[in-house]
Amino acid sequence: MDKVGYLRDLLAELREQGLYNTIRHIDSPQGPWLVVDGKRVLNFCSNNYLGLASDPRLVSAAKAALGRYGIGPGAVRTIAGTMTIHDELEEKLARFKGVEAAISFQAGFVANAGTIPALVGDGDVIVTDELNHASIIDGVRLSKASRKIYRHCDVDDLAAKLAEARAEGARRILVITDGVFSMDGDIAPLDRIVETADAYEAMVMVDDAHGEGVLGKGGRGIVDHFGLHGRVEVEVGTMSKAFGVVGGYVAGPAPVVEWLRQRSRPFLFSSAVTPPDVAACIASVEILDASTELVDRLWSNAAWFKERMAAAGFDLGLSQTPITPVMLGDEQTAQEFSRRLFDDEAVFAQAIAYPTVPLGKARIRVMISAAHSREDLEYGAEAFLRVGRSLGVVS
Ligand SMILES: *Cc1c(COP(=O)(O)O)cnc(C)c1O
Repeated sequence: MDKVGYLRDLLAELREQGLYNTIRHIDSPQGPWLVVDGKRVLNFCSNNYLGLASDPRLVSAAKAALGRYGIGPGAVRTIAGTMTIHDELEEKLARFKGVEAAISFQAGFVANAGTIPALVGDGDVIVTDELNHASIIDGVRLSKASRKIYRHCDVDDLAAKLAEARAEGARRILVITDGVFSMDGDIAPLDRIVETADAYEAMVMVDDAHGEGVLGKGGRGIVDHFGLHGRVEVEVGTMSKAFGVVGGYVAGPAPVVEWLRQRSRPFLFSSAVTPPDVAACIASVEILDASTELVDRLWSNAAWFKERMAAAGFDLGLSQTPITPVMLGDEQTAQEFSRRLFDDEAVFAQAIAYPTVPLGKARIRVMISAAHSREDLEYGAEAFLRVGRSLGVVS
């Protein structure tokens, strides 16, 4: 009896449609250059915005914690007691973000999935941007609140949906948006979103996964970028991107965080990340807190690369951040472009196509990092130009 035959069929279908995800294998630390499938390549793929993923200061903090606390967290924090190192991370994060309190989770994904259903339920309405991250979508699905989807970053449409929700007698309303949208690199108009939400007495939740360590003073995130301190109820963050480690968190007013400690299911029913991870996260927050140097370098790298690519004739779409989509349109062109970059130029840059982005909007997404040297960026831009010319994308 073949009970999983249907999966074999579905996998074959994915392969036929060109939608099968092939995962490459990395055999080096994260950095501007990687060893991928045995080949040394320039890294234009990772979310390691500040180069912290292999920073020796994080590594030694993790080693020290390993010596002091061992490797495992033992159990769920609410049942067996929390390690003080987790408390320390939460206090440092709250101070860094300029909020009353913070709670850490196992991942950014988990923070979204565990927060949304804890805050709103039956009788409530969630109003959510159509391009929000999968973990927000899943969090919304886990909640018993009803949902309304507004057009991407369209504040007028948001206002219309909020008016509808009020007319229908919603008890509580939660507006949710990504801070920086990861496929286009555009920034949500959070100032106008908050203003609009205020008019309807709706709470605002922003997922700042690609904004932390990038936007705001020294990388304090999108709320700091817009000067909205105290006006956003929930800031979700990840420790896995600019912070260079792993884990997620929610920052906000004390009652939000206190409630999540009582009712967020991943906090209550899943173990915390390990002490060395937490120690590395603390070191990372301290580095950002002490100096804006890495964040400044990230932005100057991004500005240099984008200017160079635009001058060469590439279309960089809507990007306002170091996420640099090189718009190619056609799915096959994007796949071939990425393959030639890897095989002929030793540049690792991922093609992103339908269904992650709409049909006909395929692109190569270049992730710029503070860890790239000017020579690295020059090398990458030259490679793009050669492949772009060979494929007739630029002249
Ligand atoms: C990456 C990402 C997450 C998930 O973060 P992890 O810590 O990797 O689970 C959540 N939301 C957004 C917008 C992201 O880009």
